[in-house]
Amino acid sequence: MHSVTAVAPGRVNLIGEHTDYNGGLCLPIAIQLATTATITPREDDDLRVTSDQAPSGSAWQRYVEGVVIELRAIGWQVPGLDIALTSTLPLGGGLSSSAAMECAVATGIAGLLGLPLDEATRWRLAESAQRAESVHVGAPTGGMDQLASMLGRDGHALLLDFADPARPTAQPVRCRPAEEQVALLVTDTGVRHQLADGTSGYAQRRRECEVGDPRRWRHVDSENERVRSAVTAMEAGDWEAVGSLMVASHSSLRDDFEVSCRELDLTVTAALDAGALGARMTGGGFGGCTVSVTHEGRVGAVRDGIDAAFAAAGLPRPAHHLVSPAEGARLS
Ligand code: ADP
Ligand code: MG
Repeated sequence: MHSVTAVAPGRVNLIGEHTDYNGGLCLPIAIQLATTATITPREDDDLRVTSDQAPSGSAWQRYVEGVVIELRAIGWQVPGLDIALTSTLPLGGGLSSSAAMECAVATGIAGLLGLPLDEATRWRLAESAQRAESVHVGAPTGGMDQLASMLGRDGHALLLDFADPARPTAQPVRCRPAEEQVALLVTDTGVRHQLADGTSGYAQRRRECEVGDPRRWRHVDSENERVRSAVTAMEAGDWEAVGSLMVASHSSLRDDFEVSCRELDLTVTAALDAGALGARMTGGGFGGCTVSVTHEGRVGAVRDGIDAAFAAAGLPRPAHHLVSPAEGARLS
């Protein structure tokens, strides 16, 4: 067997936050920022992983070990491996670098074993990747990130429905911002959360939802309604309506779910003041990124408005990325 290289994208969730582990709906897109895994079989049983983005021998290797353990558990004959990773995604920024890493590794292993990357295999890889993170890393995330990375489609968002958590469904939803003269701008506040920690805010929210906290559930229930409305609006190319729903989503995450932070709120306010159609935090929260939807001609103004607001608040300048719906994981 020779080396294979696999690429798996990060994702931006357009709307539907903290719903995946609550039996709800979300609407992510896979994006251009991605993680690449080059995988070479070894003569022995060892697993050796390096990353351009992290020092060797640290906790992040558990994500990769977890994927290998899970694939062996479903009966795949995975040999010892050398794995070299590199990524264009920010780590811990809410664009799902963790799932991109897991899915790149899982896809590369499928390629090494000569398995077709058909729909059934993609679902299987997403599930193994999700288990790698929840069981082996102990990050209690839902299934959205890995499904977005495995199933993403050019020109489409994915409507994911977790009504049956053991059997989520995925439906492509037309999403053509560029054809409709709008842009999706991701802004990384630079503030970092910590997911792989049972005491994190994320784990705390999960527990609050499990015990039925009414305010947390008011967010989840209203967010599911907003996802349904956003699907209708996006299919109609009505980005103004999508934008309003994103703003309502952000308010609900800030006030009812309480997972926003000063820098996320500042970014959303500045984007709207500069003429964006909508903006919201994306990902688990407590830092990370926002996504803004704006007329193409206003991207520069929105970006400058956010930068100016950060400067005025004495905060370091945030990073911006223009994104659009991309294909899921593939061999390269
Ligand atoms: P997100 O998935 O939103 O980026 P997470 O906290 O879920 O945030 O995952 C980030 C963690 O995943 C990093 O702290 C690191 O441990 C690991 N990670 C992700 N990508 C890489 C990479 N390319 N190399 C090494 N570790 C990575
Ligand atoms: Mg993650």
